[in-house]
Amino acid sequence: MHNYADKLESKLFKTVADVCKNENVNCFVIGGYVRDLIISRPSKDVDFVVLGSGIKLARKVAEAFGEGIRAKYFKNFGTAMIQYDDWILEFVGARRESYRWNSRKPIVENGSLSDDQRRRDFTINALSISLQPKDYGELFDPFNGLEDIKNKIIRTPLDPDLTFSDDPLRMMRAIRFATQLGFSIELNTYKAIGRNKNRIAIVSPERVIDELNLIILSDKPSKGFKILDETGLLKIIFPKFTELKGVEVISGKAHKDNFYHTLQVLDNLSLKTDNLWLRWSALLHDIAKPVTKRYEQGTGWTFHAHEFIGAKMVPGIFRELKLPMNDRMRYVQKLVQLHLRPINLAEDIVTDSAIRRLLYDAGDDIDDLMMLCDADITSKNDARVKRYLKNFENVREKLREVEEKDRMRNWQPPISGEVIMETFGLRPSKVVGIIKTAIREAILDGNIENSFEEAYKYMLEQGSKKGFEVKKIIGNQEGTPS
Ligand code: ATP
Ligand code: MG
Repeated sequence: MHNYADKLESKLFKTVADVCKNENVNCFVIGGYVRDLIISRPSKDVDFVVLGSGIKLARKVAEAFGEGIRAKYFKNFGTAMIQYDDWILEFVGARRESYRWNSRKPIVENGSLSDDQRRRDFTINALSISLQPKDYGELFDPFNGLEDIKNKIIRTPLDPDLTFSDDPLRMMRAIRFATQLGFSIELNTYKAIGRNKNRIAIVSPERVIDELNLIILSDKPSKGFKILDETGLLKIIFPKFTELKGVEVISGKAHKDNFYHTLQVLDNLSLKTDNLWLRWSALLHDIAKPVTKRYEQGTGWTFHAHEFIGAKMVPGIFRELKLPMNDRMRYVQKLVQLHLRPINLAEDIVTDSAIRRLLYDAGDDIDDLMMLCDADITSKNDARVKRYLKNFENVREKLREVEEKDRMRNWQPPISGEVIMETFGLRPSKVVGIIKTAIREAILDGNIENSFEEAYKYMLEQGSKKGFEVKKIIGNQEGTPS
């Protein structure tokens, strides 16, 4: 028998146990917390299963914690939640579930502890620990979850066809846990995913993307994507991405498989950052390669403008996948669009203005962009990798020099539209924008200095070319007339 009493270190478990004793009700710690306890993975989310009312017990536990601690109830689900320090405790009555074919919402009845363990998704998530005085800390493990944890195996407690067909989200969860924990999916369970893949259609896209994002946030996301691909799920949930697959050969010339390349880039990047959206940029950086692919005599395979077309595809993909249509989407779009720019700056003769332009276009995301570019080097030739990385070091050096000098990262042109309008007595109109852009371009190209005075002079020239009269002389912010 395995006893985990010593591992339930926080005093909160004793408190819950005492309340259960007073109330004469049985209660167990169950699910992810028990799994994580055994593999020493830190967690502060605890699920309690109660033989009786979860809500009633939670109310008493909150009272016992005292000092403004309250339970939140979700009557419809028969669950209650308590926040205690940085812990999140959930209480639910033990239940038996049965499913209808067209919904992942079960019909729920009260049940025993073992009923409740049977409704769990995986053997490793079905373990429970007793909080009763007679066997406090004892492990209840009807499906040999402990053994599966030791052998790093994901397996359903019941027939996997039933488990997955009942709630198809569990297929995503299987792959997510395999990726997060570095486990493998037991063969029968694995095959059942292939057989039940089309059932994913009854799961809301929001739940699917939550799991996909957890895969992307894992240490080695490629593992999850390869399983998603092999089981056929990827083609259903994210078909665009599978179009990156494959190698074509013409006249003995092959291009690289952009699916595996992209996954390698994602893995590389994952060693450097936890930023989900930067990881999404890696996933999408070459997304337009399939649609831009050409074979050109003499040159070989080309993917002209795939960075621009890829950036254009980002909103559609975000909308489809129910990812946020906000500044995060625009960030991904920007990185996809700019991902080839630093490569062009790696050449020896590069003008300051090209560097200034990149700083201006990337703004505060320049460091993320450089990280993406480093990750994009996936050559198997070590010497080549070293050389490319060195090139990017040089680019970083140039970026630092120019930024030091010109401060372009968050730069705003020194002349605003208002100044242009007041000077020439213009209303808001297209021509104001044209003059403003001309000033910005002149500075970025290094034709004029980045100062109010120079820009003002240049503006007057531009205006006079267009036949505008000066109606008013405007000074800069310090009030000195130009
Ligand atoms: P994590 O919190 O790291 O995502 P977890 O295992 O705690 O992992 P939760 O989603 O918090 O996952 O769920 C808690 C427990 O509830 C699981 O361990 C599992 O026993 C059960 N569970 C969650 N979702 C399902 C599901 N779709 N089908 C069956 N059981 C589930
Ligand atoms: Mg959890």
